[in-house]
Amino acid sequence: MRVLAAKVWTPTDIEEAWSLRKKFHLESCFVAGGTLLQTQWEKGVSYPPQLISLEKVEELERMNYKTEGAKRFLQIGSMTKLATCRNHPVIKEKWSLLSTAIQQIAAPAIRNLGTIGGNVVYGFGDAIPALLALDAEVSYFDGKTIKIEKLDHWLNTRQNNEVLLTGVILPEYRHSSFVTQFYKKVGRREAFSGSVVTVSGVIGQNDAGIIDFVRLAVGGGDNRPQRLKETEQLLIGQMIKPLLLKNVYDTILNEFHPISDVFYSGDYRRWTAANIVISELSRLEG
Ligand SMILES: Cc1cc2nc3c(=O)[nH]c(=O)nc-3n(C[C@H](O)[C@H](O)[C@H](O)COP(=O)(O)OP(=O)(O)OC[C@H]3O[C@@H](n4cnc5c(N)ncnc54)[C@H](O)[C@@H]3O)c2cc1C
Repeated sequence: MRVLAAKVWTPTDIEEAWSLRKKFHLESCFVAGGTLLQTQWEKGVSYPPQLISLEKVEELERMNYKTEGAKRFLQIGSMTKLATCRNHPVIKEKWSLLSTAIQQIAAPAIRNLGTIGGNVVYGFGDAIPALLALDAEVSYFDGKTIKIEKLDHWLNTRQNNEVLLTGVILPEYRHSSFVTQFYKKVGRREAFSGSVVTVSGVIGQNDAGIIDFVRLAVGGGDNRPQRLKETEQLLIGQMIKPLLLKNVYDTILNEFHPISDVFYSGDYRRWTAANIVISELSRLEG
């Protein structure tokens, strides 16, 4: 067993956690459940001398179902365990896509330790495609106040590790007559080797079968999860027909450019992603 030669700090509120991070800066990192960090340290990645554990910051573990004006949403504190998210009755009822995604992350013992915040800050976590499809927002502390922005935007603009993520926000989405959602993770689950490709989507159709909202997201391996916005634009206002599916397939190949690794080529990943989306859309034909 490897013993960490690091000092572990246990702040009790967000401000204290932030000021420790500012004080030690590159000599430190936040630790949530520690499950991802553990895999990195076991691979020989050096750990910083100051570890700032967030386990005693109670406000990061709260879950609130709120209404503000016309907006209704669920706020999930970043330190909420993956297992808690997966089993929470409100999430199961209203955002079951997240519950489905988390069920496919690691094994129960890891889900009992790992947090939703750790999965998101990691940047490649398997919960992210589902959160993107659900149009999730994130909240983070910037040293003065808590800011909120779309997860999609945050993933593309944030500076690595320069954040204290406080939560994930799930907005209630507009209900069409028929809402279909899916989450598919292709890859090995036994060991943590990262998925080959992960695809998630939420599609709404009106009574006439016309798509009136759609969000599609892909990720997998070392590929930063992303929305398929060109494909979404193509689908809006359309009924599913064979010609449309052909265009959707080509558009996905155009806008998703995953990298290759020693196991799978980028082309294999994008063909797989395109095939999954087409298979899911085909079910809605007619
Ligand atoms: C056996 C095994 C299997 C796994 N399988 C999967 C899998 O299938 N899919 C998957 O996605 N992951 C998997 N993981 C990785 C990991 O368990 C999850 O991604 C988990 O959600 C990480 O959460 P954590 O709380 O443990 O993060 P930590 O390890 O504590 O932290 C992860 C990163 O986020 C930062 N961080 C954490 N919380 C915050 C915060 N609030 N603000 C700012 N920075 C923060 C940390 O500094 C660190 O850089 C696996 C891990 C193991 C050991």
